[in-house]
Amino acid sequence: ALNAYVARNPGSAAALDRARRVLPGGNTRTSLWSEPFPLCIEGGEGCRIRDVDGHVYVDLLGEFTAGIFGHSSPVLAKALADAHARGINLSSHTPYEVELAERLCARFPSMDRVRFANSGTEANLMAVTAARLVTGRGTVVVFKGGYHGGFLTFGGGGSPVNVPFDYACLPYNDIDAATAEFAAHGDKIACVLVEPMLGAGGCIPGAPDFLQALRKLASEHGAFLIFDEVQTARMSEGGAQARLGITPDMTTVGKFFGGGLAFGAFGGRADIMDHFDPSRAGSLPHAGTFNNNSLTMAAGVTAIDTYLTAVSLDALYARGETLRASLTALFAERGLPFRVSGMGAIMNIHPDSGVSAEMDRKLLALLHLTMQERGYYFAARGLMALSFAIGDDEIAGFLAALGEGIGL
Ligand code: PMP
Repeated sequence: ALNAYVARNPGSAAALDRARRVLPGGNTRTSLWSEPFPLCIEGGEGCRIRDVDGHVYVDLLGEFTAGIFGHSSPVLAKALADAHARGINLSSHTPYEVELAERLCARFPSMDRVRFANSGTEANLMAVTAARLVTGRGTVVVFKGGYHGGFLTFGGGGSPVNVPFDYACLPYNDIDAATAEFAAHGDKIACVLVEPMLGAGGCIPGAPDFLQALRKLASEHGAFLIFDEVQTARMSEGGAQARLGITPDMTTVGKFFGGGLAFGAFGGRADIMDHFDPSRAGSLPHAGTFNNNSLTMAAGVTAIDTYLTAVSLDALYARGETLRASLTALFAERGLPFRVSGMGAIMNIHPDSGVSAEMDRKLLALLHLTMQERGYYFAARGLMALSFAIGDDEIAGFLAALGEGIGL
């Protein structure tokens, strides 16, 4: 499968060779690296993408969960063109940012006020910074396998990079460990930063009683509970928190709420967020040239009104649950060593050979390359995130191709 891949994708190989001269490893986004070299994708339309060798794929990855709209939406294109025609880089407040802020605060009961940033990474850094400054405490509780942005990665054995604060990294879904940490150091904990589902950590849903326990522990000890809903905001109109019936003190979002453009936002209770009110003495600073850029604001508003409705998100969630059940059934029927975890339309196929990590790696690589050859694109690590553009035909086609492909 590997040799066939190399032979099939000379254009992508050449693109990487060129890129290597000016980008380390030809790469400016580590998650896009996969052996032997990643595909170079030159465009897309609807649910399909096309690589530089002319192959067309059904895009089951959806930009690692950010690409929920499908490609080249005419509605978003018009919103962007209209915004551009009104003038961009306006050097002050605009009527547009409040439109997006009102919509986000209306969706998430945990968000009385919100501030915008340019990425989920920034949003999390600012939320954590706010929690530390407002509580006057230093420690941030995070979880193994958690991913909160480039600077906040607790995967791969829990080794974080460049974390600019004290933290305690605990096992996910482990109520006892969290209880013990709070019992020992509760007065030093500023906040708990948690994904309702570990996203990059393998699409592992948070157990409702675990997340509930975090809510209780944080409240009892005067720490803030921050839900990182950068991925899970799509689970319903009010995100995973609405499904779970848990209200955190702060919430961070990103990805699709910028209508496909670079975006992040952090929000929360008024008494926390109002520390950012610049008219107050001693307020917390938070600047950023593009925080309110009118292209993102306009695209976000149109995306929410057109696509991110309660009905559409519930339908997408249901479609994902059905696909995950179908995949699980297919693997079981064939006696194949894979399992599928996830929530709604975000899922991860995991190899489960029971033999060795090396065997698992080979199995997943084989599945990934086999499906790619058949025209279905998802992440080498097994991640899939459905967009609104994926239809019943694509799902049926994928399941059929998988059934044939893994029969070999
Ligand atoms: N939090 C979570 C849960 C994420 O999945 C991501 C991105 N994959 C981020 C934060 C960081 O967002 P960004 O890539 O926009 O910085």
